[in-house]
Parts: sequence; C-alpha cells; structure tokens
Amino acid sequence: MTQQSSFRALVVDDTDDGQVAQFRELTDTDLPDHDVLVEVEYSSLNYKDGLVIAGPQKMARRTPLVAGADLAGTVLESSNPDWKPGDRVVVNGWGLSETQSGGYTRRQRVKPEWLVRIPDAFSTRDAMAIGTAGYTSALCLDALERYGIASDAELLVTGAAGGVGSIAVALAAAAGHTVVAATGRPETHDFLSELGASSFVDRAELQGKGRPLGKERWDAAVDAVGGSTLVNVLSQIRYGGAVAACGLTESPSMPDATVMPHILRGVALLGVDSVMAPAPLRRSAWDRLARDLPASTLDSLSRVEPLSDVPRLAEEILAGKVRGRVVVDVT
Ligand code: NDP
Repeated sequence: MTQQSSFRALVVDDTDDGQVAQFRELTDTDLPDHDVLVEVEYSSLNYKDGLVIAGPQKMARRTPLVAGADLAGTVLESSNPDWKPGDRVVVNGWGLSETQSGGYTRRQRVKPEWLVRIPDAFSTRDAMAIGTAGYTSALCLDALERYGIASDAELLVTGAAGGVGSIAVALAAAAGHTVVAATGRPETHDFLSELGASSFVDRAELQGKGRPLGKERWDAAVDAVGGSTLVNVLSQIRYGGAVAACGLTESPSMPDATVMPHILRGVALLGVDSVMAPAPLRRSAWDRLARDLPASTLDSLSRVEPLSDVPRLAEEILAGKVRGRVVVDVT
C-alpha cells in the first residue's frame, strides 16, 4: 500500500466570510473516490487559479475542494488498465478547482480519462511550466492551423507577457509565423523577443471604442484578453483571416462589436476551450508542445514557487503582474 499519514493542500471552502482558500492537512480518506491515485510533484498558477483563490466571486461550485487547475506527477495506484504505477501523467482542466478537487496537494485521485501521458521530452516540472495556459496556447495554434491559416502568416498575440501569451509567442514563432506581441509591459520586450516576437504593439492601442473595420494589419491572432481588445483585433484582421479567442483578462464582454469583420472580410472567430476539450485535441496540443517547445525555452519563461506562496501569487496574477508561467512545487 502507498498510504501516507497526512499531506498539506490548499482547500477552498464556504465560510461566513464567503469562499476562502486555506491550507489544511489531508489524508487519503479526504480524496475523491476516483480510480487513479497520483503522487503530485508540481502544479501551476493560471489566471483561473487566481480567480478561485483571490477573486471577488465564488468560483468553486462544490466545496470543500482542493484548488489548482493543473497537476503533474506519477501514478501510485490504478484500478484502470490504461494506467499503471510509475506512469508520468498530467491533468489539465476537467473542472479541477471548480467542480473537482485539483492539484494544490501532494496526492490526488483522478478519473483515468482525464490523464495525458507526459511526453518523453518533458519533466513533470516542464509539464507544469506549460500547464493549462500553455496547453491552451497549443489548442489555439492548432485551431488556426485547422482553419487554414498558413504557417508563414503574420500573427498577433494579445496578453503576450502572460502565461497563455508567452507560450503562444514561442509556439507561433516555432511554427514559422511572424509574431507581433501586444503587451502593456514594455519591460517585457526583451523577454518576448527571445521567445520569438518580431515586433510589438502597445496594448492600449487596441483598447477602447474603435472602427467597425480598421486597417488590415494581421492575418491571424491568438487572443487571451477579450473585451474591446478582441473587438478591435477582429476589425484589423486581413481578409479571410481568423482569431483564436480563449481569454477574458480585459473583459468577458465585447463592447460595440459588429458583424462587419465577419461578413465583409470573412474573418472567423474561433472559440477555444481547454477544460472539456476531448482527448484527441489534447493529444494533438501536447504533440505540438513536445515538438516546438524546447525545455530550455520553458526554463526561460517559468519559475518555481512553493505551494505556501500561492495565495500571494494569486493576487499578483489577477493584477496582471506575473510574467510567463509560475510552476508550483507541492512537495
Ligand atoms: P496571465 O495573467 O498570465 O496573462 C494575462 C495577460 O493579459 C497579462 O499578462 C497581461 O498581458 C494581459 N492583461 C491583463 N489585464 C489586462 C487588461 N485589463 N487589459 C488588457 N490586457 C490585460 O493569465 P493566463 O495567461 O493564465 O490566462 C489568460 C486568459 O486566458 C485568462 O482570461 C484565462 O482565464 C484564459 N484562459 C482560458 C482558457 C480556456 O480554456 N479558454 C485556458 C487558460 C486560460 P501584458 O502584460 O502582456 O499586457
């Protein structure tokens, strides 16, 4: 048996003061009744983790719940024939930290169908340097490629210095795109150039009320920001282009959006969801990451922080202050 007496986890619970995240000692009997027991080595910090831990609204739809949208580690026990002890695995999404217990813990039980094998090219730490944010970037690039955007197209990435954005810049450059990075942090230009950005747009230039159709500037875009930025980006995509939209850091609404880019320029808005993405899309995204993202690049865009610092880091990511990716060491 692989019993462990107790381990620390960051647990979200409903209290008289609303939903709060607190460290607790758990045992295996506190874990859900799923078929695969994973020894978690690393989790990660995503914008959604910030919302769950430090956001103004209730995000967890079932409590108590271990927070953390991602986990990477090694299978300890499995009653499912697809997985055996020693398998290196990653889980992204599937409601972790919203409806299912997540990755801010040393041990977790998960459903077998949630697991993806970590590609040989990556360590468990690398897998969490990618995490939901990076895997979503790969889903966006895959969506644009499936739509027919050419690999040498000029591609804009919004929220470029964040988690989704920085990995999208690296993946898009590796695929052959000329990458334009939109960021509100000029101090990240060197960092983004090293990842493959050729030029920059100040994010303020893309915000506020714009024209229904602007000057055609880019063939395609990966948008992690939403709001007026997404509206303005759509209005400046060249004829026949597409935008893969996955985020809402500016806003979930699209103020003053019109159909003009879509009906006069045939521009497509491709929605990208990582949480419930089916297994073939996940495998394809991880194949792209293994092919196009060397571990050295992951090292340059990520840092490792202890689980005890997650509450502070949650505030930072909501304030737009986190550069690249944060890996969370749960050991
Ligand atoms: P990060 O905080 O790491 O990155 C977000 C970036 O957005 C920031 O770094 C900043 O980039 C930019 N930004 C922040 N606030 C604003 C603002 N008010 N206006 C314009 N730009 C802003 O978050 P993640 O990369 O983890 O996530 C990005 C988004 O993608 C989130 O909304 C998240 O919920 C969403 N997401 C969606 C998924 C899906 O399945 N659809 C999966 C994963 C993430 P800069 O400093 O360069 O300007």
